[in-house]
Amino acid sequence: MCGIVAYIGKKDAFPIIIKGLKRLEYRGYDSAGVALIDNGQLNIYKCAGKVANLEAFISEKNAEGTIGIGHTRWATHGPPTDVNAHPHVSMDGSLALIHNGIIENYDSLKQELIKQGYVFKSETDTEVLVHLVDNISKKEKVWFGEALRMALSHVVGAYAIVAISKDFPNQMVAARKSSPLVVGIGEDGDFYLASDATPIVEYTKQVVYLEDEEIAVIKFGEELKLFSINDEEKRPYIQQLEMELEALEKGGYEHFMLKEIHEQPRSIQDCLRGRLNAQEGRVTLGGIKDYEQKMIQANRLILVACGTSWHAALVGEYLIEDLARINVEVEYASEFRYRNPILSENDVVIAISQSGETADTMAALELAKSKGATILGICNVVGSSISRITDAGSYTHAGPEIGVASTKAFTAQVTLLTLVALSLAHKKGSISETDFRILLTELEAIPEKVKKVLETNAKIEQIALEYKDATNALYLGRGSSFPVALEGALKLKEISYIHAEGYPAAEMKHGPIALIDENMPVFVIATKGNSYEKVVSNIQEVKARKGKIIAIVTEGDTQVREMADHVIEIPETNEILVPLLATIPFQLLSYHIAVMRNCNVDQPRNLAKSVTVE
Ligand code: GLU
Repeated sequence: MCGIVAYIGKKDAFPIIIKGLKRLEYRGYDSAGVALIDNGQLNIYKCAGKVANLEAFISEKNAEGTIGIGHTRWATHGPPTDVNAHPHVSMDGSLALIHNGIIENYDSLKQELIKQGYVFKSETDTEVLVHLVDNISKKEKVWFGEALRMALSHVVGAYAIVAISKDFPNQMVAARKSSPLVVGIGEDGDFYLASDATPIVEYTKQVVYLEDEEIAVIKFGEELKLFSINDEEKRPYIQQLEMELEALEKGGYEHFMLKEIHEQPRSIQDCLRGRLNAQEGRVTLGGIKDYEQKMIQANRLILVACGTSWHAALVGEYLIEDLARINVEVEYASEFRYRNPILSENDVVIAISQSGETADTMAALELAKSKGATILGICNVVGSSISRITDAGSYTHAGPEIGVASTKAFTAQVTLLTLVALSLAHKKGSISETDFRILLTELEAIPEKVKKVLETNAKIEQIALEYKDATNALYLGRGSSFPVALEGALKLKEISYIHAEGYPAAEMKHGPIALIDENMPVFVIATKGNSYEKVVSNIQEVKARKGKIIAIVTEGDTQVREMADHVIEIPETNEILVPLLATIPFQLLSYHIAVMRNCNVDQPRNLAKSVTVE
């Protein structure tokens, strides 16, 4: 969380920083601020609210300078106020710094600094950094870059930091541990820094991803210098970005979320491309192929994830256990990491994360690695931290996802897990050649079927109108549609602020049925398959209590149509592929309800994407 952008060069820094912060706003939007050095002056502009607020706030001022740092905050310590906004500044006004992460020992550092006469203005953990650097710099008589390096050995926690000083107007210093930071190398000796590459891509494709405990000293017109926290010089590894600028724009849609929902036929296709060949009966997962035997022979595959990715993992569990007959467990990364889990070299831990930066998921992997387990990753963002620490992994190739509520990243994760399940099953021989080929053909047809599901948009908008004022909603599914119910409920909660719960359909009797009355919409996945009749019974149970049924059914279904208040048809497919189709109406429904309730669809309150704090 928190977006960082910085620039040093010959150009006007402010427009570059503001544009970059807008691209990073998905990471937090509690407050925004910039610091610019102009004619030997360090000027700070910051205020609570979104980047647009800051822009309006600055519009009448002369925000000039060719070196600057900017921040969009997701508050962890202290409420989202003007004072708590970054950048934070030293007491003498010479040093400014922005930070993404949490300084866990901030309180003891703060007490020590207060004893030495430092006065704190904000409630943030970040402010200790700026005073600590100032303190070391004065005591040790070293420049601020060296002081920052020394300060970091006193710091416990996670950080991406960029600092500037008016006494050194030609350089900036950056450091990272656990929070991401990318340096873009411009053509004219200028540099762009950001939490991810999206603010950088329009200026340069040459980037260096900082590693943990690395410090970058960046001087305009000179080469980028990297040091370890112990002051050993390191050689920067320059990478070429593959991202395209158009992927970061709304492309005519009103919201990123709607655009991303509609991109799914293509994003699923992109995930399958080069991996699935139905005609030749082949699945090739280049990234993990050397680890497939290990997975087949593993004690357990442990899928660790958070939020929506955790729901994808649950779908994966059904698929891998069913097809490949390998023992799978799904864990919340945040619980797993602190539970002292039993792990050995015979376990394979697979992290699933859109951003590849999720703090808890990263920590779970580190723990698993320390216990000798093989660690693999399924991420969307290329070059992300998880993709770099894992033994191997596969990218979902969904393209940049900007809407905070995940849509296309989820379906790409499920697609990839389906490929993993099929590939393992085939290599292990737990699936017949005929069934394998049938499933490959079915999977290949999914992008076209997703297109058909998207055609139900107008109907879903009508349904949304009817239920937009609901205060509660229930989502029910069985088998691999149960995680789809969980995901449907999460989408409604996070963007429209309606309380919603997902349940295995049969579990409804053990509690939630008490909530059902004529005001309660119950969304049910009732597609053809093994548990169809059972779900039909569950629908009857809801109807008997006057609940409203909105059912997702297989095209041509008549039985549920008679009972339900509304049905949404999805094309027929093999039962194990239903999650890829059934998810889409729920995404659209949440989207329309949120729009009708005037909610900020792309930036729902209190949330942020890329959760880099615990
Ligand atoms: N801990 C800092 C603050 O609350 C940064 C928050 C973040 O990175 O999300 O201001």
